[in-house]
Amino acid sequence: MKTIGILGGGQLGRMLALAGYPLGLRFIFLEREADCPAGQVAPVVVGDYADPAALARLAERCDLATFEFENVPVEAVQRLRERVPVHPSPFALLSAQDRLHEKTLFTDLGIPTPDFVAVASFIELQSACKRLGFPAVLKTRRLGYDGKGQVVIHSAAEMEPAWRAVNGVPSLVEQFVAFRRECAILGVRAADGREAFYPLTETHHTRGILSTALAPAPHASAALDTLARDYVKRILDRLSYVGVIALELFDCGDGRLIANEIAPRVHNSGHWTQDAGVCSQFENHLRAIAGLPLGDTTPHGYCGMVNLIGDAPALERLVSIPQARVHLYGKEPRPGRKLGHVNFCLPTAADREAAMRATLAILPPR
Ligand code: AMP
Repeated sequence: MKTIGILGGGQLGRMLALAGYPLGLRFIFLEREADCPAGQVAPVVVGDYADPAALARLAERCDLATFEFENVPVEAVQRLRERVPVHPSPFALLSAQDRLHEKTLFTDLGIPTPDFVAVASFIELQSACKRLGFPAVLKTRRLGYDGKGQVVIHSAAEMEPAWRAVNGVPSLVEQFVAFRRECAILGVRAADGREAFYPLTETHHTRGILSTALAPAPHASAALDTLARDYVKRILDRLSYVGVIALELFDCGDGRLIANEIAPRVHNSGHWTQDAGVCSQFENHLRAIAGLPLGDTTPHGYCGMVNLIGDAPALERLVSIPQARVHLYGKEPRPGRKLGHVNFCLPTAADREAAMRATLAILPPR
């Protein structure tokens, strides 16, 4: 029986473990806090990713490893790899951690992405804005997620406050895209090159945080879905990737998709897969890293997901929503914090919309 070591003990780790137990897999996590979402369902090595002794303790207790958090230090993955196989690779992690590497990867692979310029000083920011025009988006190269570490610049007067807002760290300026909607696609690749793709998913954000997802994305043509698959396939193949990856895209509404970013892990846009009658993104990630055949990715209905952010209604109310599948992460309420989500998989798009509306109606104001 294999034990999988996971760097990071948040809700993604918890859901990986919950998906792996029916397959007889075991789990051990490395996380700073023992009482983390994963710690409520599996043993935890309490320690820091940067601590070689903590990594060694994890390695002693697992057969292979992965990560559920994309900002784990690449060095930690490299060190762990000296003792046990780790997927995805440090190279894939590095490509996703630095927006300059990420955008360069898209460009090299012929995947459209907003025009961008790397900047390391205010003068470079000024010339980048001159080249790209307004509005432009300033994003820190590293440690940005859920809209953190980024500022939209509408005019020359906003350049200076924007530069101060990112603390003058190495950043990118990119063109602002007037997209019609945001989407994401999940792909999974096994070590022998077998691949599977979930359908294009429409995503909605509130203050930079994913709030709802619909899959398959409403009104997405087969051509749009194929285009998204083709883009994520290019990335999987270039990185010789093993595991689940998410590609976030802007849908321009005219047949074009523009890549925003990748996440080298299971992703919030794919939580609906848990209740769609398919092999979930969590199980497929585990299958890929454990060398098992990949599972079915075609949903059995119209799927939707509503995130519970900051504060959640009482469990009694949530489970009273007809057909709702409730997933809570065992976290204390805090503004902006993801506490859980509710999934639906229903026979018609209208049923899905009604169920999502009913769920949104009982959420506390965000
Ligand atoms: P990110 O941290 O790159 O995922 O960006 C967070 C959110 O900011 C995205 O989901 C978009 O809603 C918005 N955003 C990011 N980059 C751009 C862009 N170049 N143009 C327009 N909106 C953007």
